[in-house]
Amino acid sequence: MLTKEQWTRYNRQVILPQIGVEGQKRLLDSRVLVIGAGGLGAPVLAYLTSAGVGTIGIVDADAVEMSNLQRQIIHSEYSIGRQKTSSAIGFLSQLNSEICINEHPVFLSPENAKDIIGEYDLIINGTDNFPTRYLVNDCCVLLQKPLIDASVLKFDGQATVFLPGEGCYRCLYPSIPSRSIIKNCSENGVIGPLVGMMGSLQAVEALKVLLRIGNPLSGKLIMFDSFNGEFNSIKWSKNPKCPLCGDNPTITDLSDDYGINCETKQIDYSDEWDLDLETLNNMRPFPDIIDLRDNVEFHGKLPLHNSKIISFEEVLIQFESWDRERLIVFICDIGIRSSALTEMLRSKGFKLVYHLRGGISHWL
Ligand SMILES: [Zn+2]
Repeated sequence: MLTKEQWTRYNRQVILPQIGVEGQKRLLDSRVLVIGAGGLGAPVLAYLTSAGVGTIGIVDADAVEMSNLQRQIIHSEYSIGRQKTSSAIGFLSQLNSEICINEHPVFLSPENAKDIIGEYDLIINGTDNFPTRYLVNDCCVLLQKPLIDASVLKFDGQATVFLPGEGCYRCLYPSIPSRSIIKNCSENGVIGPLVGMMGSLQAVEALKVLLRIGNPLSGKLIMFDSFNGEFNSIKWSKNPKCPLCGDNPTITDLSDDYGINCETKQIDYSDEWDLDLETLNNMRPFPDIIDLRDNVEFHGKLPLHNSKIISFEEVLIQFESWDRERLIVFICDIGIRSSALTEMLRSKGFKLVYHLRGGISHWL
C-alpha cells in the first residue's frame, strides 16, 4: 500500500495503468546511481527524485562554479563554491524529502568504482569525458548493471541504453580514443536546454528500465541535431568481437589505465593514422577526404579541395557498406570526431583510414 501522502504526490504516474501502485512501490524500492551532478545529472536527479525513486546516489567530486549555472539547473548562485553533491541534496530534499540520497563526493576510479556501482540497481552516466565513460561501462558489464548513457556536444546530443547481456559501449567503440582525451576534458561549447533534454531522456529511460515497461533504447542510439531540429536513430547490436562483452573477452577486470587524469595524459601523435596537412597533400593515390563538419562549423571557411561532406552520424550509418580497402582521410573542426571515427573504422577492419590531426581549425 502507498501512504495517503504518497498517493497524492505520485498520483499522476500511479494512475497510468502501466505503472499503478505496484510500479510506484517498485520505484520506491529502487536504487539508482547518477554519475555526475552536472548538466545531464541535474534533470535526471530532479525527475527521479520527484518520481519517487527510493534511493539515489550521486557521484561528483567537483564544487559548483558560476560557469555551471548556465545548464546545471539544480545548483544556484547560493551554492557557488559548495560541493556539488551537497548542493544537489539541498535542492532535491526540497523536492521530495522522503527520498534517501547518498553522497559520493569522489572521482570515480578503478579502485572505488566496483564498491560504489555495486550498491545500486541502475546506473546513469552524466559525465562528459571518455575515460570515465569507459570505466563506468566496463564496471557495469562486469557487475551486470543496466547503464543509461548520453552525451552532448555543441548542438548535438545522443543517448542509448546498455542492458546486461545486450551489448555495451565497447560494442560501439571498442577502445578509448587516446588522442581525443585531452580535447574532451577541455571545455566544449554546449547549449543548456539541449543538455536538459538529453538528461530528461535519460530519466525517462531510467523509469522504463526500473519499471520494466515499454521499449528501452537498448540497441538503439538516438541522435538529436538541435541546430537543424532533426532526430535520428541508428540501430546497433551486441558485437560478438567486443573485447569486454563479446564471445572471447580480453578485458576481464577494470584496467588501471583509463587516463582518468587528463593533466598527466599526453596526446600520442605517433599513431600512424594521425596525419599532418603536408603528409595529406602528398598522399598518392590521393585519398577520399571526408569532411565531418556541419554548416555551423564552416564559419565561411571552405571545405578542403575535393572533399566530400558527410556528417559523423551519417558515417556511422553508411560505413558498413564501404569497401574496407578504400583510402579515406577524415577531417573535422578540431580533430575529435575524425580521430574517434578513424579509430572505430580501423577496429572494424578498415586498414587505410586516416585523419587530419588537430582538425581544420589547427591548419587554417
Ligand atoms: Zn560490448
